[in-house]
Amino acid sequence: MTASPSEPRARREPYDLAVVGAGSAGLAGAVTAAELGLAVALLDTSAQTGGQFYRHPAPALGAVRPEALHHDWSAYSDLRGRLAASDVTHLAGHHVWSTVREDDGTWTVHAVTGADGTSERPALIRARALLLATGAYERQLPFPGWTLPGVVGAGGAQAMLKSGLVLPGRRIVVAGSGPLLLAVASSLAAAGAQVPAVVEAAGYLRYARSPRALLANPAKAAEALLHGTALLRHRVPVRLRSAVTEVHGTDRVEAVTVSRLDADWRPVPGTARRIACDALAVGHGLVPQIELATTLGCATRRLPDGTLGLALDDLQETSEPGLWAAGETGGVGGAGLARTEGELAARAVAARLLGRRAGDGRIAELRRRRDRMRAFADVMSAAHAPGPGWQDWLSDDTDVCRCEEVGAGRIREAVAELGARDARTVKLLTRAGMGWCQGRMCGTAVACLAARGGTAEPPAERRPFAVPVRLSTLASLDEGAADPSPGAP
Ligand SMILES: Cc1cc2nc3c(=O)[nH]c(=O)nc-3n(C[C@H](O)[C@H](O)[C@H](O)COP(=O)(O)OP(=O)(O)OC[C@H]3O[C@@H](n4cnc5c(N)ncnc54)[C@H](O)[C@@H]3O)c2cc1C
Repeated sequence: MTASPSEPRARREPYDLAVVGAGSAGLAGAVTAAELGLAVALLDTSAQTGGQFYRHPAPALGAVRPEALHHDWSAYSDLRGRLAASDVTHLAGHHVWSTVREDDGTWTVHAVTGADGTSERPALIRARALLLATGAYERQLPFPGWTLPGVVGAGGAQAMLKSGLVLPGRRIVVAGSGPLLLAVASSLAAAGAQVPAVVEAAGYLRYARSPRALLANPAKAAEALLHGTALLRHRVPVRLRSAVTEVHGTDRVEAVTVSRLDADWRPVPGTARRIACDALAVGHGLVPQIELATTLGCATRRLPDGTLGLALDDLQETSEPGLWAAGETGGVGGAGLARTEGELAARAVAARLLGRRAGDGRIAELRRRRDRMRAFADVMSAAHAPGPGWQDWLSDDTDVCRCEEVGAGRIREAVAELGARDARTVKLLTRAGMGWCQGRMCGTAVACLAARGGTAEPPAERRPFAVPVRLSTLASLDEGAADPSPGAP
């Protein structure tokens, strides 16, 4: 059931469960909880369900076969069918900016509404339990030329194609690190783009060091084979232990320089090679999107690739009682793991709220499956952890923070001459990370530069606002004007 702002609906608050994020994890969590008898609200910024993996064209584009760009579409159509058959209140276009624990133990979820969150009507949902399934965003490492038009995120290129049916260019180099690159390159090639190279900074040997995790997850090998076969068919070469270390062009991308890397990701002298292209799709892995939880003080764990995920117990509960999390918020592991964790969390919530023991056979099965897939996710995360040598790609005038236009030279100066030792101090001294994206784009790079070759400490972001919020919205809260029943007219 999708509630639109103009559509009245029965008031059911407090809901038993509010789920933030309608991707694989959130959808599985919401439908499972509803099928177990809970009253559920499902909020997402997007107009459509599916999250990043099952992003698909808006109905207005009239795509005849939206499943053509996905594998495992049946898993999504099953969840979508169950959602339609359930009485979950689906609140599309709801951007959650804060969650608050009230004195009586319930949760208040604050959201701004509308396609870009600027509608005048803020919304406020109350629930007895909360499930965060907010996914991840792309990690970017800067290099000379990365701000030129035609350079897009690898996941961003995939999103353009899946939701808008458009390509970022005709001849697109795909670069960075992580298995997402293979998926992106095979989609772009299948959609008619020429892909002169996939450039992967890591090697794949690291996977071979964990044969148990590999053997226990044959579906992952099958997925890699699927993409590998597609790349072979389209004659797309994959260059391992290499990186795009410079982009060339005046008004937009005209070519990239690809260099071989040593084991620490330092460019090997004399290996630079130019490849002509009109677009570059680049990403260096994904970062769990966990600000809503860290702002509440939830414990985190350091993932093998240096990012932070939420620390979760065996039944997906965070260190904050009553707050569960699933999917990429606990570490990046793919849509199958996200679905498993969403269902597991929902069953644990239902057991808690309905006063039952959370130990039935299905829960045990889900836990085993989750542990197996998480073990693979940790191997994947370690295999693609950026080496410290990537900083050698930077020249002093390379913008690291593109929002505030702060170059690498200014950050190095803040570290070497002004004594900054962490991203927060660099931010105070240079404004790096203070712009519109609030450090989502440059946070990793700034933390690495501040660590001066040591282990970078990713900041556990504590922000009162997870998304931009207008002053008028905050004022309306004070006046008690926020609509506590978002479906009401
Ligand atoms: C840009 C991008 C592209 C990707 N493309 C692929 C791909 O092609 N193939 C692949 O195998 N994997 C891809 N992935 C990885 C993929 O996202 C995961 O494997 C899978 O989708 C995880 O499911 P999830 O439910 O944890 O998160 P997601 O599917 O990301 O779902 C999270 C949902 O939370 C919503 N959300 C986030 N914050 C808020 C908020 N504050 N308020 C309301 N809603 C919020 C988002 O709109 C989103 O719908 C991609 C990841 C990214 C970041």
